Amino acid sequence: MFKFFNLILQDTQMERIIDMRSDTVTLPTKEMKQTMLTAPLGDDVFGEDPTVNVIFIFFHCKKKVASLLGKEDALFVPSGTMANLICVLGHCWSRGSEVILGDQTHIFLFEQGGIAQLGGVHPRPLPNLPDGTFSIELMENVFRDNNIHFPVTSLVCIENTHNLIGGKALPLQWVDEVGRKCKELGVPLHVDGARLFNASVLLNVPPERLVRDASSVNICVSKGLGAPVGSVIAASHEFIERAKRLRKVLGGGMRQSGVLASMGIYAIDHATETIVNDHKNMALIANEAIEETEETEATEETEETEETEATEETEETEETEATEETEETEETEETKEIEKTEETEETKETEETDETKEIEET
Ligand SMILES: *Cc1c(COP(=O)(O)O)cnc(C)c1O
Repeated sequence: MFKFFNLILQDTQMERIIDMRSDTVTLPTKEMKQTMLTAPLGDDVFGEDPTVNVIFIFFHCKKKVASLLGKEDALFVPSGTMANLICVLGHCWSRGSEVILGDQTHIFLFEQGGIAQLGGVHPRPLPNLPDGTFSIELMENVFRDNNIHFPVTSLVCIENTHNLIGGKALPLQWVDEVGRKCKELGVPLHVDGARLFNASVLLNVPPERLVRDASSVNICVSKGLGAPVGSVIAASHEFIERAKRLRKVLGGGMRQSGVLASMGIYAIDHATETIVNDHKNMALIANEAIEETEETEATEETEETEETEATEETEETEETEATEETEETEETEETKEIEKTEETEETKETEETDETKEIEET
């Protein structure tokens, strides 16, 4: 994996080093920046920035809704961390609330415990499984009875794609089951969809379908989508009204934020093509790496064979030698095939990975 960090590709006449520490290092394109220059602006705390309001229209407009998140309303906020905090606090409006979430999630591990530090919300982490899910049976088991000794289970959070688990897209069937169980238990579901578009492209499912049962969703425009700043919360109109209050108290009420939102809108508009391209490039790099490894292995094998041959020649007859060579070749080919399969599997995982090591990111 670390080998890739030094990968240099020819880009027209320029040699370019591809920085793969995180998709947060992505820069806005010229076209994206141009949208900023002509964006109509106003004071968004007064609700008067037309460009920021376009983000609402994005989610309001029936045609867009069909292809996006399928929620009533949306809110532009400065970061994904703030988006998650606002959503958790918005759902856990009463004191003594508890949230069920995976123990490898961004909210639990990488947001300074903000939900507890600032919101007084009690986290109930469940062990994340290797595919980013957790046991739904366990989720049901830890659900609190109405008992004065206990906090009140008020929310379930899932993360899609799951960053720390390797950027994996959560299996849709599991997402649906969590949604069904939440409804049954009467709690809302929040989806930290910082990279929801990656999951959508990987699974070939519209983003809306991935968050069908969610009461709130966070998407980051500042990760793989390439915008410099911002996240969008999508939820019901009622929830967004509450989210606006929370955004203000957290210091996230911005003024002429259309400067930023314009690039976010561009990023969302081009999300699918950007991510499809990203995944294609990832596959190219991975294949290149496989070929490189195979070449190195082949050279090593040839050297080994030559050495063996030399020794054998002095000790054995030509006939024996021929037999042994055939056997060796067969073995080598088999080994190669096994290695190839193993590598392809590794590569698949790499493709799914959002290339992000959160530790490096923050
Ligand atoms: C990056 C990320 C966030 C936080 O976004 P910031 O804009 O960096 O605060 C939240 N959740 C996940 C899964 C992330 O990868």
